[in-house]
This record gives sequence, C-alpha cells and structure tokens, in this order.
Amino acid sequence: MTVWDAEVDVAVVGGGACGVMTALRAARNPAVTVAVFEKSAREGCNAAISSGSLAAGGTRWQAAAGIEDSPERHAEDILRASGDEEWRQVVEALCGAAPEMVHWIADTGYPIELGTDMPRAGMTARRLHTDTGRLGGGRLMRHLRALIDKHGNVAFVDEAPVIDLVSHLGEATGVVVSQNGSPQRIRAGAVVLAADGFAGNRALVEEHLPHLGTPFYGGVSTSTGDALGWALRLGGQLRNMGAALRSGLVVVDHGTRVSPALPFNGAVLVNLDGERFVDEESKGYSSMAGVLRRQPGERAAMIWDATAMAATRESEMMRECLAAGAIHDHPTIKDLAASLHRTPEETERALIPFPGRRHLTAPYHLAWVTHGLLATQGGLVIDPSGRVLTAAGEPIPGLYAGGGTACGLAGPHSDGYLSGNGLLAAFGMGWLIGDNLSSKHRS
Ligand SMILES: Cc1cc2nc3c(=O)[nH]c(=O)nc-3n(C[C@H](O)[C@H](O)[C@H](O)COP(=O)(O)OP(=O)(O)OC[C@H]3O[C@@H](n4cnc5c(N)ncnc54)[C@H](O)[C@@H]3O)c2cc1C
Repeated sequence: MTVWDAEVDVAVVGGGACGVMTALRAARNPAVTVAVFEKSAREGCNAAISSGSLAAGGTRWQAAAGIEDSPERHAEDILRASGDEEWRQVVEALCGAAPEMVHWIADTGYPIELGTDMPRAGMTARRLHTDTGRLGGGRLMRHLRALIDKHGNVAFVDEAPVIDLVSHLGEATGVVVSQNGSPQRIRAGAVVLAADGFAGNRALVEEHLPHLGTPFYGGVSTSTGDALGWALRLGGQLRNMGAALRSGLVVVDHGTRVSPALPFNGAVLVNLDGERFVDEESKGYSSMAGVLRRQPGERAAMIWDATAMAATRESEMMRECLAAGAIHDHPTIKDLAASLHRTPEETERALIPFPGRRHLTAPYHLAWVTHGLLATQGGLVIDPSGRVLTAAGEPIPGLYAGGGTACGLAGPHSDGYLSGNGLLAAFGMGWLIGDNLSSKHRS
C-alpha cells in the first residue's frame, strides 16, 4: 500500500502553458485543491520562449477589424494542413474553446491585439493574437503565473520534478515528486500530464525523428518526454511521433529566428548555388525547414528590403535578430552579390519576384537561415476532454494530458503544423481539462 506524504484533488505535472491554464481553470472552484509541480522555472518552458502567438477564430478583435472567422473555419484550416481527419474531434474542441479563452486572458488584464500584420501560410484569416508590445510568450507566462498566486487553493511548487506516476488497478492515483532530492508521494484525484514533448531528449529524437538530421535545437532543455513512459505503462498510446514543430527561419550561428511575415512582404530565399528554390509564401515555417534541409549546406540567404523590414521589425523575433547582429545590411546589389558570391546580374535574376509579388529595392537586408527543431508534436492519444486513452479507446481513470505531452495538431508530418497550433493545443487543452475538473467537485 502506498504511504502518501500529501494529498490534492489535482496534481499537474509541469508549470508551462498547459499546466498553468489547467490550474487556473480548475481552481475557479474554491473547493478544488491543485498542486502544479514544475521541474525548473529557471530552465523554463517552451511557452515562455515562444512568440506567444495565440490562434483563435471568431474573436472580438477580429470582429472589430472586419475579419470574418469562426472556430469552424479555424478547425478546417488546421485539418487541411494536417490531413489528420482522425483527430477532428480534438481539433474542433480546441478551436471551439479558443476565442473564449483568448477573451478570458485579455479580461484578466493582459494586453492583447490581433496580429493583422501576421500573415501565415495555410491560414485563411488573420487569427494570431499577440500582446500589444510584441514581447512574446515570456510576458504571457509571467502574467499567468502571477494569477496563480492569487488563488489560495493552488500551490506552484518549483524545482520539483515529477519522477513517477502512481497507479492502483489501472487508475492514476498520484505522483512521486523529487523535492531537494527526496521523493514525496502525492495522492491526487486527477493527474494532468503537462510536461511538453521530447525534443530535448536526444535519444528519443533519434528514435522517432531520424529524418530531421541534425537540426539546430531551439526549444528548452526541460522537454525530455518524462511523462510518456508513465502513461504507456498504464496502457496509454502514442501517435504521430514523427511530427515536430520545426522552423526554417533559424539564423545560422545565432539561433534567433527571422519573422515568418517576411516572405509575405517580398522576402526571397536564395541558396548557396545562387538559386531560388521555393515559393516562399507557399510554405509554413515548419514545412520550410524540410525544404532548407535539402539545400546545399542546409542553408539559404533570406533577403529583404526596407519596406519588408518596416513591416516586420516590431516582432520579438526581428528585435532579437537585430540585437544579436544576425542581420547584414547591403546598400547596393553589388554588395549583396558579393556576400552571395554571385555576380550582380545573377543576383538581380534571383531577386525577380513571382507574378503579383513586390520587387525588392536597395538597400537590402540578409540573414543566412537554416532548419531547426523547436518542439515535438507526437504524443499521447487523448479524447477531446484530454483524457488519456488506451488502445481500446477507453479513458485511463484519473489520467489527463495536454500540450506537447499529447498528440498535437500537425498530423503525421511536420509539414502539417499551422502557426499557433502549439499554444492552442497547450492552453486550449488546459482550459478544457481545468474546466472539467473544476465542475467535478462541488463548491
Ligand atoms: C522558440 C519557440 C517559439 C514558439 N512560438 C510559438 C507561438 O508563437 N505560438 C504557438 O502556438 N506555439 C509556439 N511554440 C510552441 C509552444 O511554445 C509549445 O507548443 C507549448 O509551449 C507547449 O506547451 P506545454 O504546456 O505542453 O509545454 P511547456 O510550455 O514547454 O511547459 C512544460 C513544462 O513542464 C515542465 N516539465 C517537464 N518535465 C517535467 C517533470 N518531469 N516534472 C515537472 N515538470 C516538468 C517544464 O519544465 C515546463 O515548464 C513555440 C515553441 C518554441 C520552442
């Protein structure tokens, strides 16, 4: 028989996007006690280093901007990109929750605006929402974690990695947490796995994503896939393990990323042979990573001009690139050609716009970009309420998963990732799981 050190109603594994949202929603019921166990807030979560772009269809900001959109249209965009019809119910549940969730975040005092200047491949409406200062996910996570402190019924326990899941007769009954090196057994009515994926675990990446080669890793060190094995032991299933959130916009030698909006403002990609090799607007950044991996030297020069710079420089990505000195300025076509090791004539030819696109004019900006891995998208099979399912499709009692620990929205391949999917799956599933757990207990 397990001897418990403490007991809560809800034990959340991981204090990132999914974990914090789960806790905030569950704790609305004052009768529910919640503990969030976080491996290391200092090492961080992906949500805090993300751009913080929240995809939602049918929001008040879209209405104010005259943009027609809806959860249904959002879901169709995701499913068209992923081709993953089997995952439709999960996608629809998340897209259905998204507008209310983004409104709620704003109503807690977080300054949100619609990114009308944030076009993305595969998105039929502008639906990325961001903070007004464009400071990215760090600001959002600080805001949400501060909200947790206002709830007397939630404990956020930092430097407390969960090292095991406890079960009894096939039911999740608690977790083992390491605190100062000593294991604590915490009994819980529900365990929520919100520990993200496994992109920071080299062995698992080599096993499931060998086709990525040796990408730059742009995620946090804490994504080591800890929760997957525990759920498998209870009969959980893994799905789409070969899919990832990749980026084809990682700047070589810097690790910063240029803005995905650059191609929509005329930016072009030229490889080491001086050739254009892709319609830059046609690919999302995850899909572009695969294209770049196939180029000579696995890199290409992204080239843009002052107009494109003005349209994108306020994103946190471009600010980071500028601060890092990752962008080179070339006043003339001759200078640009020299840095590409081409003649000015060859360079002019490479810059010829596709029909209907802008023509770039001097002075030019250039960054060498390559492919990177940001986060994995394969994970546990869940139902639209976040319950972890067995091979027979039965929920494992007491066990939930969301965000990067669960199977994501990209489908079987990284090319199916649509911008905003990551935080939608994390915050959205946290919202749904937390609401569900909140209403299970009487207040
Ligand atoms: C550079 C970058 C930019 C991105 N930009 C965007 C964007 O703009 N929009 C978007 O939608 N998505 C974006 N994403 C993806 C998005 O950040 C992730 O999909 C999302 O954060 C996943 O949420 P999560 O809650 O599953 O994991 P996280 O936010 O990573 O949180 C997981 C937490 O679990 C903790 N943890 C791990 N193991 C344990 C354990 N054993 N015990 C206790 N705690 C544990 C970790 O320390 C971490 O704090 C980006 C990702 C990266 C890397």
